[in-house]
Amino acid sequence: MTIPAMMPVYGRCDVAPVRGEGCYLYDAQGREWLDFASGIAVNALGHSHPHLIGAIQKQAATLMHISNLYGAPDQARVAQRLVDRSFADTVFFTNSGAEALECAIKTCRRHHTAAGRPEKYRLLTFSNAFHGRTMTTIAVTDQAKLRDGFDPLPDWATVLPFGDLEAATAAMDDSIGGILVEPIQGEGGIRPGGHAFLQGLRDLCDAHGILLIFDEVQCGVGRTGKLFAYEHYGVTPDIMTLAKGIGGGFPVGACLATENAASGMVVGTHGSTYGGNPLAMAAIDASLDVIDTPDFLAHVTAMGDRLRQSLEQMIPNHDHLFDYVRGVGLMLGLKMKSDSRAFVGHARDHGILTVAAGDNVVRLLPPLIIEERHIRECVEKLSDAARAYAVPQAA
Ligand SMILES: *Cc1c(COP(=O)(O)O)cnc(C)c1O
Repeated sequence: MTIPAMMPVYGRCDVAPVRGEGCYLYDAQGREWLDFASGIAVNALGHSHPHLIGAIQKQAATLMHISNLYGAPDQARVAQRLVDRSFADTVFFTNSGAEALECAIKTCRRHHTAAGRPEKYRLLTFSNAFHGRTMTTIAVTDQAKLRDGFDPLPDWATVLPFGDLEAATAAMDDSIGGILVEPIQGEGGIRPGGHAFLQGLRDLCDAHGILLIFDEVQCGVGRTGKLFAYEHYGVTPDIMTLAKGIGGGFPVGACLATENAASGMVVGTHGSTYGGNPLAMAAIDASLDVIDTPDFLAHVTAMGDRLRQSLEQMIPNHDHLFDYVRGVGLMLGLKMKSDSRAFVGHARDHGILTVAAGDNVVRLLPPLIIEERHIRECVEKLSDAARAYAVPQAA
């Protein structure tokens, strides 16, 4: 047998944490890393946050799972909490981001079929987007690295350059039922869509009677200093997906929609065995208790500004390596002049975890609970790493 017991679909690095505390991870030998990755924007409250642990422990001892065939007071309460704080009127809970996208895409499809417009089954989506790894979510991208070996995939999307409103306007036809976009691209390299682009997409949807779907799986839930990234742009979607930070590390996602967008989602059209279980609801509740306060969101904004300034001050000392910083709040990208993947690996050896993204960007996605001292330590470690770094020569 040569295949490992863990299906070898990941190129794993040699960091093997067994314990986490606040902004730090530790391996079995006691090696320590400053965690500026947070999973990938997942551990919003850092590791071992007492409020999150307490809520999950208490719920685990009370009621872990019930079928969605039964009434679900906990789920109803958390759904109402999200409705009260967003554009949405209704919520479907999932176990992951890709599942939230599946629900969003089904909701859009049903919106049109229920109104007698079955021809509007396709979406406009954007290059360098990431919406997950299910067959549907890879079908709506043009990324070879996600799609390779999975053809034939259904022709469910027209993929356009991110930020190109003219292309979106020109690509409109009767088959398009919605526009799916990350307000701030994550995997694609921390690229904010900007007000003009997102407002333009909103206007386009309104003009054509189709739905605007925001994928906030990475940029949502406090990461940018607002509860939802769309609040920065004053542009509201019809459907929105959440996951990652919303459970603080517990696997849970959500698809939010307006009443109009969800008009086709009647009994029997969708479901999930685990979606919305009491344990996941306790995790969302506890995460929102901490994140969704004006003081905490102001803290995220302040730390985001501080981190950006510190990185910008660092760049001139290593300007053969680093170019500039982009992003919003604590969703920042450090643009490199060479391969960011190699540098992220090198930085790990200097005790700091970051995540590589497209366009040679190093993603900084720290826990939202970071303090000034973590920012100082981050910049010291990145500077140490940069000083000791020899840019790999292309073969
Ligand atoms: C991570 C991510 C997803 C997929 O989430 P999974 O939980 O891995 O399925 C979808 N959209 C965006 C924007 C993401 O960052």
